Amino acid sequence: MTRYMTRSSQKKSPSHAKHEPTQLAEESGWFGFQPVSPEEKTARVRKVFHSVAPQYDLMNDLMSGGVHRLWKRRFVDMINPAPDQDILDVAGGTGDIAFLLHKLSPTSRITLCDINESMLRVGRDRAINRGFLHNFNYVVGNAECLPVPDNSQDIYTISFGLRNVTDIDAALRDAYRILKPNGRFYCLEFSHVDFKPLQKLYDLYSFSILPKLGRYVAQDEQSYQYLAESIRKFPTQNALKTRMEQAGFELCSFHNLTGGIVAIHVGHKKA
Ligand code: SAM
Repeated sequence: MTRYMTRSSQKKSPSHAKHEPTQLAEESGWFGFQPVSPEEKTARVRKVFHSVAPQYDLMNDLMSGGVHRLWKRRFVDMINPAPDQDILDVAGGTGDIAFLLHKLSPTSRITLCDINESMLRVGRDRAINRGFLHNFNYVVGNAECLPVPDNSQDIYTISFGLRNVTDIDAALRDAYRILKPNGRFYCLEFSHVDFKPLQKLYDLYSFSILPKLGRYVAQDEQSYQYLAESIRKFPTQNALKTRMEQAGFELCSFHNLTGGIVAIHVGHKKA
């Protein structure tokens, strides 16, 4: 498995320099509802996914009643990749998005990238079990400073990953850097419910039922408490769209699914 490069070993391109941050955004200092340093957030997120990796797929099905499969299907249908594309699935974890994209575009070269080797190993084993041996590449790397060349990818995807990244703006800028001109950015993420009658029920489920499911199935209540809290800390649909524009993306839009429980954000790199 390719190891990730450190921040210092990866210089930003000059075209990218104008977007350098002056300070980290507010959510960088929170691990769910607990105030932490950005370094601690990264370390604790890493621990969460190391802990849940073996049960991750089972828990997704249980938590969402299988609905995450419909959201992911909708996501890849929107992407609709042409043949022979270079596709980078960031925070790709156990491979759900990469596998769906491969089915739609078997000749595309897909790189599955994740900061967490435990998640990536599960993804690689699943790919091998499905006979997906060609056109797949696995890279351990941080979305904030990807070990991927400038202007090299046609499509960037990140599914249920951006919320876990400490410096979201750095990740957006790096997504822009690695895309080819005209390349497309797609993010699927838990977002903010825009259908009020759903809100109370959703809160009850997230904070009362979800952590208990985590306790009994994955023997890990805290990681699923973090999941519920991190969703509430994630930027709203409009705020994320603005931050994508600040990173350089054009034609930015979002599409709510299931009353805004999740949203798909799309952006284009300049031609
Ligand atoms: N994309 C997969 C899916 O939709 O099922 C996995 C999503 S899982 C909820 C979140 C993933 O983000 C984990 O595999 C975690 O290791 C990864 N992750 C967290 N922070 C990251 C970062 N800074 N860079 C890359 N991956 C990261």
